[in-house]
Amino acid sequence: MAVPKRRISSSRQGMRRSHHAIKPKQIQYCKNCDQPVIGHRMCAACGHYKGREIMPLDQKEE
Ligand SMILES: [Zn+2]
Repeated sequence: MAVPKRRISSSRQGMRRSHHAIKPKQIQYCKNCDQPVIGHRMCAACGHYKGREIMPLDQKEE
């Protein structure tokens, strides 16, 4: 089994972990109804995506 030759110093460990922070989710606004939407997702309020209706939400789905 491969084993590290040298101990990783806390400084190096910190340098590696400097990339580990998570960013807040980007919020876009629906072109149709101006509700906040997560990018690359259909609008949950009106069922639109890229300016056209994908899923009509008025009538209930089976
Ligand atoms: Zn919408």
